[in-house]
Amino acid sequence: MEFNNKDSFFRRQQAGQPLVIAGPCSAESEEQVMQTAAALAQQQVHIFRAGIWKPRSRPNSFEGIGLKGLEWLGRVKREFGLAVATEVANGKHVEEVLKQGIDVLWIGARTTVNPFAVQEIADALQGVKVPVMIKNPVNPDLALWIGAIERIYNTGITDLAAIHRGFSSYQKSKYRNAPFWQIPIELKARFQSLPIIVDPSHIAGNRELIFPVSQKALDLGYDGVMIETHPDPENALSDAEQQVNPAALKDIVSRLQVRKSTY
Ligand code: PEP
Ligand code: MN
Repeated sequence: MEFNNKDSFFRRQQAGQPLVIAGPCSAESEEQVMQTAAALAQQQVHIFRAGIWKPRSRPNSFEGIGLKGLEWLGRVKREFGLAVATEVANGKHVEEVLKQGIDVLWIGARTTVNPFAVQEIADALQGVKVPVMIKNPVNPDLALWIGAIERIYNTGITDLAAIHRGFSSYQKSKYRNAPFWQIPIELKARFQSLPIIVDPSHIAGNRELIFPVSQKALDLGYDGVMIETHPDPENALSDAEQQVNPAALKDIVSRLQVRKSTY
């Protein structure tokens, strides 16, 4: 499989810099989205992320703001010139997101596990040229991750990236989702030109491990990081323990070093 290598949306950073995707786990209010974007537009951030449909493990949690969040992302794009990205989990989401001119779509870990859902997304993407990022499935199954990438690739989209967000495990560890680094290394060995981005926020599950997990990924030759960033992380409506504020993001990114790839 040949991915877009020359003008890939995921290789827009300067040489020697990681691609930085940042923004809140969830779009919560127009003010929260605009406040976050205003801060991130002043920093080395290439793509603004925010989830508007949230796949929560339990009912009665905040399940996302829905369609009006797309309008807020539209404002971020117009007013700050940031590219914007959100998660899609079904064909209807894809239609809505494309209507609003969202720049980048991502498929979440709970969707990558389900070939029916991934195929429905792929069907909605037929003939559309939009960059798509595909998170690993929640379980450590390389074939499912590859299968999801293949389903989207088969629509004709070559501007793809993989996101490594760790794997859930019953065993307790210092991570929320164990990184099992060997799995993305095998993915990368298979698809050498596919950009790969680390999501240290969902791997770590806490703020402290975001820097070391990001640096480890860059040391393995990853192209970028996706870091959940919220103006008031402690009071976030989802993933409060792992989000950082814009100042902390700036500090993390400033300390990251792109060393020679060890792939
Ligand atoms: C997210 O990015 O906020 C998210 C829901 O992630 P994941 O699909 O990796 O759990
Ligand atoms: Mn999250």
